[in-house]
Amino acid sequence: MLTHNKYPTEHYRALDAAHHLHPFSDTRSLNAGGVRVIVKGEGVWLTDSDGNRILDGMSGLWCVNIGHGRREIAEAVQQQMAEISYYNTFFKTTHPPAVELAALIAEVTPEGFNRVFFCGSGSEANDTILRMARTYWATLGKPSKQVIIARRNAYHGSTVAGASLGGMAPMHAQGGLPIPGIRHIGQPYWFDHGGDLSPAEFGLKAARELEAAIDEIGEDKVAAFIAEPIQGAGGVIIPPDTYWPEVARICRERDILFVSDEVICGFGRLGSWFGAEHFGMKPDLMPVAKGLSSGYLPIGGVLVSDKVAGVIEDTGEFNHGFTYSAHPVCAAAAIANLKVLREEKLVERVRDDIGPYLRERWMKLADHPLVGEARMTGLMGALELVPAKPSHRRFAGDGSIGLRCREHSFRNGLVMRHVHDTMVIAPPFVLSHEEADELIRLATLTLDMTHADLK
Ligand code: PLP
Repeated sequence: MLTHNKYPTEHYRALDAAHHLHPFSDTRSLNAGGVRVIVKGEGVWLTDSDGNRILDGMSGLWCVNIGHGRREIAEAVQQQMAEISYYNTFFKTTHPPAVELAALIAEVTPEGFNRVFFCGSGSEANDTILRMARTYWATLGKPSKQVIIARRNAYHGSTVAGASLGGMAPMHAQGGLPIPGIRHIGQPYWFDHGGDLSPAEFGLKAARELEAAIDEIGEDKVAAFIAEPIQGAGGVIIPPDTYWPEVARICRERDILFVSDEVICGFGRLGSWFGAEHFGMKPDLMPVAKGLSSGYLPIGGVLVSDKVAGVIEDTGEFNHGFTYSAHPVCAAAAIANLKVLREEKLVERVRDDIGPYLRERWMKLADHPLVGEARMTGLMGALELVPAKPSHRRFAGDGSIGLRCREHSFRNGLVMRHVHDTMVIAPPFVLSHEEADELIRLATLTLDMTHADLK
């Protein structure tokens, strides 16, 4: 059997340090500590090069929704490779996987969504959003509608447009971002920003920042509002119940497009096919990636409502696309993934079974002395680490407590991610009840160890 785990860990560490620049990493500190080498994945479990088993509480990077090591995907990919491994979809050409995947996506998207524009990643999807939204308005004779309103601390990718739409200050600080024509408003983060307001009051206040921004910029200059249904990389920010209905009202009353960034929430993570459906939102455009193929191969897309697609048809040539738009092998992986989701009813499983089961236990972690708030929707959860309770005051500093907690977690055999001092999880949909219990046991142990370090 093919295996890449032929050498001792040190071999990989040395070569990695010499030749590999990692994304979102401080190279010197990474190499000083030594990189972790993951060699195998099966279901919710990873194995590292030292033989440790680790529960993948993050589904890779919020993507391996159907779990690791599925034969169905490997076989579909192998078969497609043998048929036609590459052809493009430019110049009046298509191929069966592109067509079948587009049709399959149309079956699971909300009413009024029948078209998809394929690309290779979530970042490329959001670059597409920027160009498509502006082209939409230009085609309608309103070329001044250019500004995209986004939110601080949002993550929309790492390309120039994606990182500009995102609201991550450390990303903007490198490379001269954001590009012009993007405005950021606050995020609906009640735990940190709510002050004395109730969640309901704060939700309305946060939503009305959108209205204020549109008024200030001028409706005739605003193209779209983009937002993740639940901010993922920002720290699993679940908005108060009042937030999305108020945003919906504002979008209804104003002549702007609403873009629901479904790169994490799309394809079942919240127990609905799309996050917008969970919150009763009616978007015009939905960028997707990750869960489209469960991360088995890189593929993304923009799901385009009939309203926007009709106008883009009137544009004539839309001068945009990628060599790997609808790559046949990636599309075959995505088709196989969607079939697994449907046949094993995994979206329903998140909604009715493993989602509520894990949530009930996760929410109890709020009783831990280190946890100021626990939250979870579908299979996306967060814990706010705090120095004292009851309080919304967070640790001073730059997230070193969260980092310490993440390190303990990994060593204990659970992947949890930290966003400053917020711990987040997003496990695969195939997590069993026993594995959920084990996740909670490992998370509790990790919190205890982190707490003990503070004494
Ligand atoms: N949008 C959201 C909401 C994301 O979480 C991400 C990645 O984490 C992206 C876009 C960018 O996707 P990619 O990393 O595939 O470019």
